[in-house]
Amino acid sequence: MSRIAYVNGQYRPHRAAQIHIEDRGYQFADGIYEVMAVRGGVPLNVEHHLTRLRRSLGELRIEGAPGDGTLRTIVAEIIRRNRLRDGIVYIQITRGVATRDHAFPMGAAPAIVVTARRMKGVPAEVRQSGVRVKLVPDIRWGRCDIKSVSLLANVLAKQAAREAGAFEAWLVDDQGLVTEGSSTNAWIVDGEGNLVTRQLDNAILSGVTRRVLKELLVETGRTVIERPFSVAEASGAREAFLTSTTSQVLPVVIIDDHPIGDGRPGPVTRDLQHRFQEYAVMQR
Ligand code: PMP
Repeated sequence: MSRIAYVNGQYRPHRAAQIHIEDRGYQFADGIYEVMAVRGGVPLNVEHHLTRLRRSLGELRIEGAPGDGTLRTIVAEIIRRNRLRDGIVYIQITRGVATRDHAFPMGAAPAIVVTARRMKGVPAEVRQSGVRVKLVPDIRWGRCDIKSVSLLANVLAKQAAREAGAFEAWLVDDQGLVTEGSSTNAWIVDGEGNLVTRQLDNAILSGVTRRVLKELLVETGRTVIERPFSVAEASGAREAFLTSTTSQVLPVVIIDDHPIGDGRPGPVTRDLQHRFQEYAVMQR
């Protein structure tokens, strides 16, 4: 079955779907996006994703995008038309099409693309064994809280990780503090068994998985400390893991060449993986 994409009000065969060459997303990366997980044909955490999408649009002052009701309908329709069971839905909204000029154009309507794709997710063996991350300098801009399509620094960081045989890059600011991954949030477990992850500020994206996990953690009685942690702290941590829509909760067992704990996923991470999995099943 051929894939179907939504582009500016129309459902088109994926191969034939097009946007204008003067779309500001293409020329300036002047746009935002969201990635939602789909399990059993149901999109997960839609409310949280739409809240973040609305915030990103607001911060960039992109006006005139469809409301939440319309976006929910498009998401449901793109899942239906693609007969998607397990995978992701991608939503991108740019400031629209206009003659190239840096300043905001007058009267341009936002351009909207929604696509769906099958995705198996991280293989079970990798979930079990954990992954390696590579430390990479964080050279991104000052508004990483906006889920902007301007991802060049993230692309370079991920590529550096892949070339080093690592699953993800953990980005390190000029004070030696880990901000987040190139497409994931970063967590450690300290000596007292507390969870540590950076506070929400302009240096990181407010991950939906991070948010859900924080809520799930309330039941465990474990404390979540939201503060920056250093590379040294991460290397000496009892456990480490990363979170994202596509990775869920994934143990980090080596940072650069340094094993974390005994080099195997620890009990806290395992428990959280399990809890997150159950939560995802319950949402369906
Ligand atoms: N940080 C960055 C830079 C990301 O791109 C992502 C993935 N969207 C995340 C964190 C994790 O966010 P989420 O849990 O919403 O997928």
